[in-house]
Amino acid sequence: MKFKEFAEFCESIEEISSTLELTARIADFLRKIEDDEDLYNVVLFIMGKVYPPWDERELGVGIGLLYEALENVSGKKKEKIEDMIRELGDLGLVSEKIVGERRMLTLEFEELTIKRLREILDEIASSSGEGSRKKKILLLTGLYGQATQLEAKFITRLLMNEMRLGVGEGIVRDAIAKAFGVSEEIVERAYMITNDLGKVAVAAKTSGEQGLKAMKIEVGIPVRMMLAQVAESFDEAIENGNVAVEWKFDGSRIQVHWGKGILKIYSRRLENVTNALPEISEEVKKCVKPSVILDGEVIAVKDGKPMPFQHVLRRFRRKHEVSKMMEKIPLQLYVFDILYANGELIDVPLEERRRILREFVNESERIKIADQVITREKEQVEKIFNEAINAGHEGVMLKNPASPYVPGKRGKHWLKLKSVMETLDLVVVGGEWGEGKRSHLISSYELACIDNSTGKLLRVGRVATGFTDEDLEELTELFKQIVVYKEGKIVEFLPKYVFEVAYQEIQRSPKYESGFALRFPRFVRLRDDKDVSEADTIKRVEELYELQTKT
Ligand code: AMP
Repeated sequence: MKFKEFAEFCESIEEISSTLELTARIADFLRKIEDDEDLYNVVLFIMGKVYPPWDERELGVGIGLLYEALENVSGKKKEKIEDMIRELGDLGLVSEKIVGERRMLTLEFEELTIKRLREILDEIASSSGEGSRKKKILLLTGLYGQATQLEAKFITRLLMNEMRLGVGEGIVRDAIAKAFGVSEEIVERAYMITNDLGKVAVAAKTSGEQGLKAMKIEVGIPVRMMLAQVAESFDEAIENGNVAVEWKFDGSRIQVHWGKGILKIYSRRLENVTNALPEISEEVKKCVKPSVILDGEVIAVKDGKPMPFQHVLRRFRRKHEVSKMMEKIPLQLYVFDILYANGELIDVPLEERRRILREFVNESERIKIADQVITREKEQVEKIFNEAINAGHEGVMLKNPASPYVPGKRGKHWLKLKSVMETLDLVVVGGEWGEGKRSHLISSYELACIDNSTGKLLRVGRVATGFTDEDLEELTELFKQIVVYKEGKIVEFLPKYVFEVAYQEIQRSPKYESGFALRFPRFVRLRDDKDVSEADTIKRVEELYELQTKT
């Protein structure tokens, strides 16, 4: 398939805001793709993704590289390109214009196909080390050198992982169902298990519902984690009978894959964090029988007390001097579920899974099975809740003992009961460099929630307090790499990270697109275990606003 066809299709749906219409148009487009490989690539590309969430490869193409490649084909300097972004809105549109005024054309003009683009992208992702920057610029220059204007627009957007089409996973999932006449639920389940909508689309096309149902969990491929809903009260949690009560550990979620010569650990965002946690890997090899997939929480413990959750994430991010960090931030793993034990277990009831968990895990100092009490006594739940809080954890999880493991779902089977005040998890979309002694730091951050229906980001405020100097140093390093636009001290970021923020009150305000503003927002922590799509929605902001006016 020609990339031109894909770019033309993207252009044709750019103005559509109705989810139903978008889904229908994408379904039609997918249905007509004959080649499986093309189908796979189109499904990812249309969401602005080059790799599925579980794949560790990254393009490593920042805005600086794109500027250089565009300069190579047009002679336009970075400053000029930045002016054009201000004028036109995004680098996609700028590339479209620049390529039209191109001074250099590749001699052997060859029409770009989806497969050829995939090859180039894989080559970019696989170049590392010395000379890789140069190689990437050459590859990108080659691409822009032969692209048409429209192709250039969408190549840039793909490289920046933002197609600006309003097409997220939900729409693509429904489009796959529609295109190949299979149920949305079955597509969803296959996706939660494989984490690869491209693969799911190909299975739906080649072998329909049967093929999708046959997709099974595999050791080595991460599975979306089951999530919990907020329990409003103890009473709500026990109204349907017995609950399995566990501490809600204040750490970070991991999924451990062990067996068939594989040991891999994934974070909640399904990033491979194996290398950052060597002591956990070693202990799993010693204490756990293969082949399994375990679900649990790693916590940092010092002098018998849990350290703040932030420290665990610091360990996750660590690539160098891991052993130094192992001493500074010692970890323990509390396992609470098992998804696979020489075969898939997700449809087995929780009570039975716990029994199997005990068979496979031999507890040690570093690996423990989370205690679980089955009860329907409110006093008993309260007692465990207080014990958890006193031990420095967050509260309790109340689980339905008869429930299956539902990957990727936030449902009533798992309820969480926490003691702390409600906070919001918001996407960081911009920021501002500080003044005086903070002039080398991005010291305030602009926040947005998600519009549930369109997926757009709506700003709700700006947070400038609650950070330690150490936080700001780390955040500046992180955010510097994802600046997409700059004007004076003001910067805009690629929406990639989520902050948890506390506030005193939510107010109605015309200042931001959301129609709300946070009074006295305070940074609590970087939730880099959460994906942007998991941030709070405008609906949640409204609910919290209503709640506060009621009480
Ligand atoms: P939240 O992040 O507030 O939505 O709460 C859900 C998270 O609690 C899970 O993703 C886990 O990281 C964490 N958690 C801590 N202890 C448990 C437990 N016993 N069972 C399940 N999740 C737990």
